[in-house]
Amino acid sequence: MVEKTQAGQVLSVASECVPLIKTGGLADVAGALPGALGALGWDVRTILPAYPGLLARLGKAREIWSDPDLFGGPGRVLLGRVGAVRIALLDAPHLYARDGGPYSVAGKDYPDNPERFAALCWAAAALARGAGADGWRADVLHAHDWQAGLAPAYLRYADGPRVATVQTIHNIAFQGLAPATRLAALRLPAGAYQTNGVEFWGSISALKAGLVTADALTTVSQTYANELMRPEFGMGLQGVIAERASALHGILNGIDTDVWNPETDPEGPAFNAARMTGKTAARAVLAAEFGLEQVPGPLAIVVSRLTGQKGIDLLPGVLPDFIASGGGLAVLGTGDPLLEAAMTEAATSFPGRVSARIGYDEGLSHRMFKGADAVLVPSRFEPCGLTQMYGLRYGAVPVVAATGGLADTVIGAGPASLAAKAATGITFHPVDGLALAQALRQLVTLHADKPAWRALQRRGMQAELGWGRAAESYGALYRSLIG
Ligand code: ADP
Repeated sequence: MVEKTQAGQVLSVASECVPLIKTGGLADVAGALPGALGALGWDVRTILPAYPGLLARLGKAREIWSDPDLFGGPGRVLLGRVGAVRIALLDAPHLYARDGGPYSVAGKDYPDNPERFAALCWAAAALARGAGADGWRADVLHAHDWQAGLAPAYLRYADGPRVATVQTIHNIAFQGLAPATRLAALRLPAGAYQTNGVEFWGSISALKAGLVTADALTTVSQTYANELMRPEFGMGLQGVIAERASALHGILNGIDTDVWNPETDPEGPAFNAARMTGKTAARAVLAAEFGLEQVPGPLAIVVSRLTGQKGIDLLPGVLPDFIASGGGLAVLGTGDPLLEAAMTEAATSFPGRVSARIGYDEGLSHRMFKGADAVLVPSRFEPCGLTQMYGLRYGAVPVVAATGGLADTVIGAGPASLAAKAATGITFHPVDGLALAQALRQLVTLHADKPAWRALQRRGMQAELGWGRAAESYGALYRSLIG
């Protein structure tokens, strides 16, 4: 039997986790939180699917659970370590040995995604209840997004030892829908298919399953928690969220301040945050890499999925003005083919002032934050957002829509915040071309006022962005559930 640690035992259930597999911010959270909780005395294990190539990354691993018929084929869980983090991989080749990404191939979702992630939840629920060979059981099962939403449901709908459950919403736009006819195939009881259960407009929603069955709900910023109760943001689940408002907590994400540390970052020139030296050299490297050597004003960057959520479609409309007033823009991203084309076209229209790299490149993204004067994040909604925090840390002043986590991490420059010496960036609202254009004018003006600009950068770089605060909040929540 495994000794109980002081704080408690947590099983984190996620479909992606840094450094193993990442498509978005969820992976950063699932990867960083266990370490920060571990520092507070929590014993955390993370379970995720064994996508191709992952088993080899586990080092010395041992099988702790198996099921000969896990949603259409055999499945087994191998427990090992990646760095300091305990990782359990669910090996089920019939579900996860696929050519594409974790959720889709060539832009098309796998048709059996409901079963693929139901299997993850099934194995997680079993392990949480102590079915693993080593007898480890969880005090708390922490489910991330819809892919983990059935785990609290399986625990709720079946008898067994009590495990407290937390469902975290990283992005409510993804709801894990399945046809109602798959209820039994997803191993859900007939009684679960009702308005206060897993039913959602005639379908099954795995996210809703988590939202109605978990003991506590969290999302990744307080502002997004408030927004989720409104039809503009709740994506049909606003009523469910409002009903569970007293169980919902907004806990702001941190960033990995070791990986995102301008002073130790091997990408780009040496940087001294205290003396603010290195930015000029890093900007020159960035400008050379993108062919933007002739930008007299602020050199801004976008590092983002290129989607409507991120407000990328607003950029072409505001560029003529921004470029005319001296600005420049370097874009790195992939996503919607129309938006990719729009960014490439903008680069063609403003040679030497706008440049776009269509692709995913972690190293380049680091060099961009190091060299940029500003990072633009014009999202229509943003549960938390990470890139504005990278911007703060690297002296790339964030220009952000005042929504979700963007509103909670950036103090917008205005008469009051500047007088109080509190501003760390530029915020705008509503999220449209007029407001973004105005924000970019403010960027150009502030950038030209060197002492004010330096002060803005310096305050941002001093912001507390690590995982410690979030881990304390999750720990307090877990304790309140364990009782
Ligand atoms: P979301 O999860 O909605 O995509 P976040 O801001 O929470 O948005 O997280 C996005 C993460 O992915 C950040 O770490 C960001 O730097 C990274 N990222 C996005 N697009 C790219 C890209 N094209 N190249 C490198 N990193 C990227």
